[in-house]
This record gives sequence, structure tokens and C-alpha cells, in this order.
Amino acid sequence: MIVSCPHCHTGNRIEPVRLAEAPSCGACHQPLLNGPIAGTADNFAELLRHSKVPVVVDFWATWCGPCQTFAPAFASAAEAFAGKALFVKIDTEAEQALAAQYKIRSIPTIAVFDGGNELERMAGALPSGQFKAWLMQFV
Ligand SMILES: [Zn+2]
Repeated sequence: MIVSCPHCHTGNRIEPVRLAEAPSCGACHQPLLNGPIAGTADNFAELLRHSKVPVVVDFWATWCGPCQTFAPAFASAAEAFAGKALFVKIDTEAEQALAAQYKIRSIPTIAVFDGGNELERMAGALPSGQFKAWLMQFV
């Protein structure tokens, strides 16, 4: 699958089984999964299927003010929980099929998956500290 680096945005081809091995970016050599990665129609199903840790998804859009406000909290959580959860951002404008598949009615919507199953979702953003506290029940 192709995962774009959260630091330099280079697309990295990685074997799904290597998700658990803290892969680094081939271009900038920073850890690939200590920041939010972009979920797409091409990689999201594989991410869900192969991730050994919970997958936390931020359904967002570029025009959404609350999404922009929440972005640093999501990125901070991705760093804090690196290795314990996988953080994925899905642009609901660019990935309308995924937004429809998961019946996203408002953004931001935060959903947590484990073993391919959705455990919980939350509509709306939380401040960074509260978001991390909310995540603690899943990791
Ligand atoms: Zn990179």
C-alpha cells in the first residue's frame, strides 16, 4: 500500500505486515507513523485489515474551520500514541466514497477502529488534553 509521509508528503510503498515495525520514510527518513497519515480509497481498507493497533480516523475537509482547529490536537495525539495507535486523516472532499461508506454526516468526525471494526465515533472536536484522555480507553 502507499502511505504518504506526514513530514514530507512523499508516497512510501510499504508492505502491510510492516505497519507494526515503525517504518521510516524512504525520502526524509523520519518515522512514517508518528504523525497522521492520509487515508484513501486505495489504502484505508488495508490499513484497517492489517493494523495491529487501533486505527483512529479524523474525517475532515480543508474548508472546515473546526477541523483546522482540531488538526494540531490530532497531530499531537499521533505523536504521543505512536506505536500504540495509527492515526489517519480522511479528506471527505477528496474521498467522498469513504465518507459515504462510513456515513459521515458532520465533520470533524473522529472514529476508532480495532480489528477492522468500528468501536466508537465522536462528532466534533475536543481540546488536545481531553482528546488524549478520550483515546486512553482504546489504547
Ligand atoms: Zn518523509
